[in-house]
Amino acid sequence: MPRALITGITGQDGLYLAELLVAKGYDVHGVIRGQNNPKRGLVEDLLPDVTLHAGDLTDMSSLIRALRDSDPDEVYNLGAVSFVAYSWENAALTADVTAKGVLTVLESLRLHCGEDPSRVRFYQASSSEMFGKVQETPQHERTLLWPRSPYGVSKVFGHHMTVNYRESYGMHASSGILFNHESPRRGPEFVTRKISQAVAAISLDRADALVLGNLDPQRDWGFAGDYVEAMWLMLQQDEPDDYVIATGETHSIREFVATAFAHVGIDDWQRYVRQDPRFMRPAEVDRLVGDASKARDKLGWKPRVGFEELVAMMVDADIAALEAGW
Ligand code: GDP
Repeated sequence: MPRALITGITGQDGLYLAELLVAKGYDVHGVIRGQNNPKRGLVEDLLPDVTLHAGDLTDMSSLIRALRDSDPDEVYNLGAVSFVAYSWENAALTADVTAKGVLTVLESLRLHCGEDPSRVRFYQASSSEMFGKVQETPQHERTLLWPRSPYGVSKVFGHHMTVNYRESYGMHASSGILFNHESPRRGPEFVTRKISQAVAAISLDRADALVLGNLDPQRDWGFAGDYVEAMWLMLQQDEPDDYVIATGETHSIREFVATAFAHVGIDDWQRYVRQDPRFMRPAEVDRLVGDASKARDKLGWKPRVGFEELVAMMVDADIAALEAGW
């Protein structure tokens, strides 16, 4: 039975990945942070067979213990301070966790592996936010990185450190440059979930406004459930490598809003939506669109869920949650 250790197991991607690996017959372990973490119950309910280890990306000995106790074949580093807007307010914390945390995991793993540095395969969750002020379109694995937020800068550090550990020590370390990926499990601070929750509430007459920031940015949005499959595929390859994971389609926030409202039969969405400078960012990433042809050719990966289906899935899940009184 293969064993996997996941950091960030309480997040959207961690939960989908853990479900996927359990279904594939893995013995799944997760690192869980903090005292009395409110998300522990969520993981235990959804994934009763997963073993949780107390640990923190800023605490190397806790990671070494988690590696020793779980003895994994594969490590997926999904833990991060992951919300771009928050990363300006807590830039140093973001750097400690999202940047230096990657080094701490890599270094722990190197020590753990001893004589055979490629014994355990490693996945780093890199991000399309690394492209920031994009230097070419669509973005691919060799596109120049130009991050636009403390989060993006931190992800660049983690990405390069992963490549560096692969080249310096021969570790089986791969980096997935994942474009935005969403689901009903997305945190409500992200714009897609904020929209799906508000549209669900408005459709049930439980709210009458949706307050957003900039409606012009464009994102290449896919379904998180499809994207965790790509993570797993990367670690099944003989050679470690870097891969862009994206749909190749881009849509504006405005289009996401219009599609979500149209799904509940509201066409005059403008009367519900207000803009507030509070939600504008010091620097914006204007337009992301990824070229995932390498992942398609080498991994045989392609997304299954398209844009409209993703929006509908998220709005329907939020309507169901409201109706069930969750
Ligand atoms: P990101 O791509 O990782 O930053 O994902 P987000 O979902 O947080 O933001 C996506 C885009 O939506 C960014 O360009 C934001 O500026 C834009 N946006 C506009 N209004 C909002 C809002 O109210 N909340 C968030 N989170 N983003 C917003």
